[in-house]
Amino acid sequence: MAKMKTPPADDPVPPHLASMPPVPTHRSLRGYAFDPSLATKLETALVSEITYTVPWEPLRPGPIGEYVEVVDFDAASDCFYVPVDLDHPAVLAQHGLMPSEGNPQFHQQMVYAVAMTTIDRFEKSLGRKAFWADRFERGGGRATQFIQRLRLYPHALRMANAYYSRNHGSLLFGYFPATEDPASGQFPGGMVFTCLSHDIVAHETTHALLDGFHEYFMEATNPDVLAFHEAFADIVALFQHFTFPEVLAHQIATTRGDLAATENLLAQLATQFGHARGTHAALRDAIGRYDPVRRKWVKHEPDPFELDDTLEVHARGAIFVAAVFDAFLSIYKNRTRDLLRLSSGGTGQVQGELHPDLVNRLAQEASKAAGHVLNMCIRALDYCPPVDLTFGEYLRALITADMDLMPEDEHRYRVAFIEAFRRRGIYPRNVRTLSEDSLRWARPGEDPVLPPGEMEAMLKRFIEGIRLRDQVDRLRYKKTRSEIWDETRNIRIALHQSIQEYVGKAELLQRLTGLALTADVPKGVKVHRDGLPVFTVKAFREARRQQGNGRALNQVFITLLQSETMEHEGRVQSFRCGSTLVIDLDEIRITYVIGKGLHDLQRLVRTIAFKEGVDAGASLAATYFGEADEPFAALHQLGA
Ligand SMILES: [Zn+2]
Repeated sequence: MAKMKTPPADDPVPPHLASMPPVPTHRSLRGYAFDPSLATKLETALVSEITYTVPWEPLRPGPIGEYVEVVDFDAASDCFYVPVDLDHPAVLAQHGLMPSEGNPQFHQQMVYAVAMTTIDRFEKSLGRKAFWADRFERGGGRATQFIQRLRLYPHALRMANAYYSRNHGSLLFGYFPATEDPASGQFPGGMVFTCLSHDIVAHETTHALLDGFHEYFMEATNPDVLAFHEAFADIVALFQHFTFPEVLAHQIATTRGDLAATENLLAQLATQFGHARGTHAALRDAIGRYDPVRRKWVKHEPDPFELDDTLEVHARGAIFVAAVFDAFLSIYKNRTRDLLRLSSGGTGQVQGELHPDLVNRLAQEASKAAGHVLNMCIRALDYCPPVDLTFGEYLRALITADMDLMPEDEHRYRVAFIEAFRRRGIYPRNVRTLSEDSLRWARPGEDPVLPPGEMEAMLKRFIEGIRLRDQVDRLRYKKTRSEIWDETRNIRIALHQSIQEYVGKAELLQRLTGLALTADVPKGVKVHRDGLPVFTVKAFREARRQQGNGRALNQVFITLLQSETMEHEGRVQSFRCGSTLVIDLDEIRITYVIGKGLHDLQRLVRTIAFKEGVDAGASLAATYFGEADEPFAALHQLGA
């Protein structure tokens, strides 16, 4: 028998593999741009379908991938639908199944495509892998396992609702018959599937991503916390519209480039869902709303006092969304002013229909501006306090994050945000002015007590003392999410140990974070048997990003948490404190300490007042701020 000829050892590609194509980077999947309702209207039928491009991964039927697992159990009918196999050659060759309301396998594909688009967007902005919320040992102990996949149930409920359940690590989507009112534009009694709405799937996926990032943003300690969760989920869904090129061009042409003044699909959320429930309008609209008295859509003018008496979570969140959308609109306007001047002979007022070339250029600018705005919003999460977030603090986080990354604000994005937030009455109450410099979180070096330079030197010794660079190196070359999760957990344990060992010298860190870290433990903070205070290293995140000036920014974010009990008017209250240290690894310095320290009487009084207002049933909040197991289930029903 002839021996097979072996290729020489230095031959880079074995001959039989020379023509193998590389592993694909993306998978194309057909789906609805917004939801199925667009296909039934003449003016939008052409743009009702788009092709989603999601990162390539091998899939098992379900689909089941690295991040999500679609489980198609229909509880109302007590049956499982056959799972779609997106890796089947016939399916692959046609960019997935054809959009269809009647085919459950397409529903599975749609949920998968939108969830993965959202996850991808989130990861790209942060420059690191996304994780789902940890599960904890009973009693709130150490996280015990890595939650690899979020479960998506496209037909979980027979009701007009969809929600994220942390307890089950899943997204549950409902379906329901549309209202009988023929004026709704819906086929009366026709079935509406929330899993076929881009906005609803993106919104719910974002809740899960945000919860995986900031666990305590589901703990309502002030009126902004849950409203922020809702607003953030809406913002991600809304700005993803601008990544649909055909829809974008179509809407730019229809509104003649003016996205602020006229009702348009880009600024609306969950159109079909809203109509199907007989509200004559999208579920939420960032720039206006349907006025049932005047029976028409009207633009919503900003009101700086509106926030004061708007406590319902969705309504409050909507003000926040409107502010972000306003910031986007002024950035878009700035970016396109020259184009409009060029095409109007200098007046800026283009007569007649827009030229298709102009439409394309405007669409490009809108898409770029939307991408920047979404990036800014997502990156701000690293700079938020870990507990008890307020809208004003989020604005500070956003401004600080952007100043770190884009020292030169060439296109005045930050000004656009500050201005838009101010017009809606959103700003922190404890800053002197609304300039960038006052809004940026204070730097620890700006300490009034220590002589200049002293604190930097002490903090540098601390960072070296806890061997931070070595810790980051351990993480840097981990590939899979499960390896990263495991290693991060080890680092958190090691850091906790180092900070404790360093504790004698940690007065400085204690003063910076406002937490109790030394053996001199104040009343109200639990202590271990050795007399040291109880605290946790809640999070450890690394970020390597490129600054606008081309330099690399190597950062680490460490979150410390601690609980305390405080007595107020004869009652003992327990509440959570925490600080995030932002550390520049190249300069070896702590750039910011963002948090909520112990013994904050003002905060305690505010929290108690808020909770009492809720307990007394003073607002709608009472129905879902209580002990409800599924906070978002009730939230979304109310909001709809
Ligand atoms: Zn929500």
